[in-house]
Amino acid sequence: MDCPNCGVYNPEDRKVCWRCDKPLPKPTPEKRRDPRRMSQVWFYVALALALVVSLVRLCGNVPTMGG
Ligand SMILES: [Zn+2]
Repeated sequence: MDCPNCGVYNPEDRKVCWRCDKPLPKPTPEKRRDPRRMSQVWFYVALALALVVSLVRLCGNVPTMGG
């Protein structure tokens, strides 16, 4: 990131500017839509569905397709 004081480039892991020794602001993580998060949601949806199906089967009153 660029130093807000002198404008020189600093690596992301630097806490102070190598040139003017001013403390650098923490890099703020960009809030982007994470595709992994979306797939996680679908994982839980599938898990809930599987749970419901197994519960219904435990009841044994549901006619299954094709016997
Ligand atoms: Zn600086």
